[in-house]
Amino acid sequence: MSEEFVVATAQRLQPQLVSHFMQLIQSNHLAHAYLFNGADGTGRQEVARTVAMRLFCQNVTDDGLPCGQCPECRRIMAGDHPDVVSVVPDGQRIKVDQVRYLKAEFTKSAVEGNQKIFIVDQVDRMTTGAANSLLKFIEEPVGNTVALLLTANKNLILPTILSRTQIVDFIKVAPQALTTALAKAGIVPSQRYLLTTLTESVSAAQELVVDDWLANAQTAVGQWFTACCDRDERAFVRVQTELVPLGSNRDRQGVVLDMVVQVWHDALRQQANAVDPTDLAYPQVAPVSQRVAHQLSIDRLVTIMTETLATRGQLAGNLNFQAILEALTLQILAQMR
Ligand SMILES: [Zn+2]
Repeated sequence: MSEEFVVATAQRLQPQLVSHFMQLIQSNHLAHAYLFNGADGTGRQEVARTVAMRLFCQNVTDDGLPCGQCPECRRIMAGDHPDVVSVVPDGQRIKVDQVRYLKAEFTKSAVEGNQKIFIVDQVDRMTTGAANSLLKFIEEPVGNTVALLLTANKNLILPTILSRTQIVDFIKVAPQALTTALAKAGIVPSQRYLLTTLTESVSAAQELVVDDWLANAQTAVGQWFTACCDRDERAFVRVQTELVPLGSNRDRQGVVLDMVVQVWHDALRQQANAVDPTDLAYPQVAPVSQRVAHQLSIDRLVTIMTETLATRGQLAGNLNFQAILEALTLQILAQMR
């Protein structure tokens, strides 16, 4: 696997997460522990390695990506970097000696104090005892450490770990073929890009457009977003009157939260470059997202993105849908001041 290949694969599979994490590192906002929740083939290892390379790269590109050429990048790619500690289960379980190795490395990092990143794949295969000993290090991060815990199924993860990590859901990124198929299925252009961020299948997309649900949701989220950007306290009221009724069941509530992520992601994408409105999730509010992209500092936009990305984990943790959206709205309005 060449080093360009990993970063390119990560970008192809998870363009939004890659740009999100590159910006978190750039602005020094990387948290101590993340849970990357993604089915096989969604690029969780590639994104994890891209994050590791970006942390150590000596020659970050103009696009804010790891270069893939410098000695640090090369050592990480070769699996031979002393400060990138990677564990993959050996068979069905993460073995006791692998956990012992992890603990020893954590302890070492406390002494050395230098940047260190831990990547533990299939963390669901840890025994409860092993997971609990890992928790201690997540709870009391030592030195300059980052832990990336990877899983294909967060439902198998202990709640104690879920509650102490930031959960990042890896959604399968739609191939160009999906956009074409959506067009063939009669989906209007203004909804196509948004749908490719929400689902991988044409039939699931078609379910979302039934009875204009998607059109109504796109309008409601766009108006809520506009109110937030205008520092209009009525954004809070819109949660109750317009967003909450869209979430008639848990699945739809999840879709609404994903849609909220996308509207802020539109703004983030426009901060770096001009984006053709047809490539925005919310072309209707393009002038607003463009304005806020230039008004807000990168730090604030990244903070907002982080807060919106956290809502899916809150929903999975059984928090009330309305309460999640209200808390998010207050956090966002606070960033707008
Ligand atoms: Zn490099």
